[in-house]
Amino acid sequence: MSVIKPYRFYDQKIIEQKANQLLIQAKHQDYPLDWGEGIAHRMVDLLELRMLWEFLPNDHQGEIVAKIEPLERRITLNENIDKLKNDQGYQQSTIAHEIGHWILHINQDEADGLIEQLSLPLNSLTEEQVFLCRVTGEQDINKIKLKTQDDRREWQAQYFAGCLLMPEYKLLECKRGRDLTNWKHLYAIAHELCVTISNLVYRLQKLEWIYIQKGSKQIYTGRNYIN
Ligand SMILES: [Zn+2]
Repeated sequence: MSVIKPYRFYDQKIIEQKANQLLIQAKHQDYPLDWGEGIAHRMVDLLELRMLWEFLPNDHQGEIVAKIEPLERRITLNENIDKLKNDQGYQQSTIAHEIGHWILHINQDEADGLIEQLSLPLNSLTEEQVFLCRVTGEQDINKIKLKTQDDRREWQAQYFAGCLLMPEYKLLECKRGRDLTNWKHLYAIAHELCVTISNLVYRLQKLEWIYIQKGSKQIYTGRNYIN
């Protein structure tokens, strides 16, 4: 009886589709999405999750940025991390990452069912059935070492976050009248979508709209670049 699904490989296209499905759901339910404000908080509401700020102490592996407890439908952000409080893009990325776990890795029916069935105190179960997240923003997706299944889950959640916060249709809108090989324009788009510049650059490179050589700041158009 586990609310966390066994590990599975997801094709990147499938992860993108799952993020798009959530955006479509928001549209069907007439859920207002203000991209300038960031849409991650709204997605938390849409999914009927809760979010709170709390101090999350380090464990033996180091700093914990955020966590999601499926049985309580609760996302907790570490109030002790200033960057998380002050950098809207980083915050969006972190929340969207937790939503990624909810969508990809959590057996949602099971989570709800268990709450109804059990008279046990929740904390007797949540200990093991929780995602503790250390890498949730900035360029960190590049730094995730893909050694274990847990690492791969973290990568999947972060990839989902990028797709959710920067869907292709929205990027196409933002791109109008702009030059994606110009850093100033990229910063303007990042601001417009309330994402970090590194998340934006990673996403655009994944779409192959742009290409940046490692160690260089020069942006080239990628093979899928559309004028
Ligand atoms: Zn995570």
